Amino acid sequence: MLVDTSECIGCKACEVACKQWNLNEARINQEPGTYQSHPHLDAETWTLIRFVERTNDQGEVEWLFQKHNCMHCTEAGCVTACPTDALQYGKYGVVTLDQEKCIGCAYCEQACPFDAIHVDRNPFNPRAQKAGKCTLCYDRITMGMQPACVKTCPTDCIKFGDRDALIEWGRQRVEELKARGFKNANLYGVDQLGGLHELYVLLEPPEVYGLPANPKISTWTKLWKYAVQPLGKLAVGAGIFGLAVNWVAARRAFLQGEAAGHGAGDHAAGQP
Ligand code: SF4
Ligand code: SF4
Repeated sequence: MLVDTSECIGCKACEVACKQWNLNEARINQEPGTYQSHPHLDAETWTLIRFVERTNDQGEVEWLFQKHNCMHCTEAGCVTACPTDALQYGKYGVVTLDQEKCIGCAYCEQACPFDAIHVDRNPFNPRAQKAGKCTLCYDRITMGMQPACVKTCPTDCIKFGDRDALIEWGRQRVEELKARGFKNANLYGVDQLGGLHELYVLLEPPEVYGLPANPKISTWTKLWKYAVQPLGKLAVGAGIFGLAVNWVAARRAFLQGEAAGHGAGDHAAGQP
């Protein structure tokens, strides 16, 4: 997917289409003090138009919009952190989430450099203690349909298709924008975290939109995945093995005791 932010008009039709298709509740949120609808993404808000209000070089107030959601990273912090494999790399570059396997530990929340996945902490919600995030409309695209946000966008600024073709299109668009005077125009997502599956044509550097220029999976997340988790699994395996050995030894001792008891009884019964 590629979002050309220079064409986004901030109408939020994509937000509504996302909620509608995924049966996510509309929520009354804390007023963020701008025209932005929610302060941030949450377990039932998987797509959000972020409003950046600022004064430009000409001293004019202007808005920049960024459609924010899961980036479907090629090297995803959330997949690395998840202890139950609820998060996995799926087809078409989609990072899939199986809510049945999710235990609500929220390690993915901590590991995501984009604040794009959240656990529902409302105990009255049917999906309580389950993570939620953009699925890239996996259910739609596997049926040959476009994601709901792409289908609904009135300016066609959300494009869906082959990643290489989108990168090519994005590079040309950046050149076009630069020629029109947007000297900071850039294409975001080509190389970050092995390549994002949500690309952006931005008018300003990524940091202006709150996007990290060089996102990383933290060392702690990698340690957790490649050292602590295997050790934990080894410890559980060793514990189960120890219990099994203990059970076999106890059973053998019991049977030997039984046999000895019977032998003594027979002997006693044979006495005059
Ligand atoms: S943006 Fe966050 S939630 Fe989405 S794949 Fe990357 S790490 Fe996971
Ligand atoms: S539907 Fe398109 S134009 Fe409207 S807010 Fe979403 S991305 Fe922007």
